[in-house]
Amino acid sequence: MTVLVFLDPAHDDGKVVDASQPQLMATDLGATRGDGIFESMLAVDGSPRKEQAHLSRLASSAAALDLDVPDADAWSRAIRTGLGEFAAAEPDQRNAVVKLVATRGVEGAGRATAWVQVAPVPASTLAQRKAGLKVLFLERGYDSTVAQRAPWLLMGAKTLSYAVNMAAVRHARANGADDVIFTSSDGKVLEGPTSTVLLAYDRDGQKTLLTPQLESGILAGTSQSALFAAAKEQGWELGYGPLEPHDLLDADAVWLISSIRLLVPVLVLDGQELRTSAALTAELTELVDRFV
Ligand code: PLP
Repeated sequence: MTVLVFLDPAHDDGKVVDASQPQLMATDLGATRGDGIFESMLAVDGSPRKEQAHLSRLASSAAALDLDVPDADAWSRAIRTGLGEFAAAEPDQRNAVVKLVATRGVEGAGRATAWVQVAPVPASTLAQRKAGLKVLFLERGYDSTVAQRAPWLLMGAKTLSYAVNMAAVRHARANGADDVIFTSSDGKVLEGPTSTVLLAYDRDGQKTLLTPQLESGILAGTSQSALFAAAKEQGWELGYGPLEPHDLLDADAVWLISSIRLLVPVLVLDGQELRTSAALTAELTELVDRFV
């Protein structure tokens, strides 16, 4: 089942509402313009993972949109309420997706609409974790320096306007793949529609983990950042782009990483089989499983 908790000044811990009933006004700017932000985090045994990183990215997205959203404590209390309700309703589900959403609110009201949604992890996500991915490169249509020149494009913010990202995934599926890696018009590797790109080299006894540079207008992944911190402690070298498609073809392993699906190997890229490494995947998955 899905649990919904609205953040409401009259309810300190959030207000639980019936997710099977309409709860949003049709004039909400989140619905009419996609004007809002969100976060998705994994909860394991009732504890949200990387909660502070997600709350801090939510605050950055809010700042990019000039959106006044509830403070981190209010979100945390609503998350606890939602997870408590979910555990009572679904005692056998160890994992849950916790989604935080804030919109610019009902037209004319001048106050954000904000809620927490807690739901089971979709079966398709769990299947991809095991199976690995066939991926297509697709053009995003911007160059890799646009984010600095054009902040109104909100490139590094996690906005509700994900219709393009979802269309890209549908395009991949219609063409025999599972997911997408976007490229910039100047030929740089960017990110997946819902994930960060990682690649590794294991050469001459030194393991190196690479990801595209944040300045290229991609979302700062909380999973990539936590994994880099953990890998550094284990002696990995780290690097931050710029990356080009041939770097992925040359790597010893390529993955997409995100908070819910976690670390998933890319097996095939644009129809070409990539090198994979069960050992590197196992080593990094162990680090990902330790995220709190
Ligand atoms: N990039 C995009 C565009 C995303 O939507 C996401 C997550 O949904 C990510 C990267 C990965 O971020 P995180 O690891 O914080 O889930």
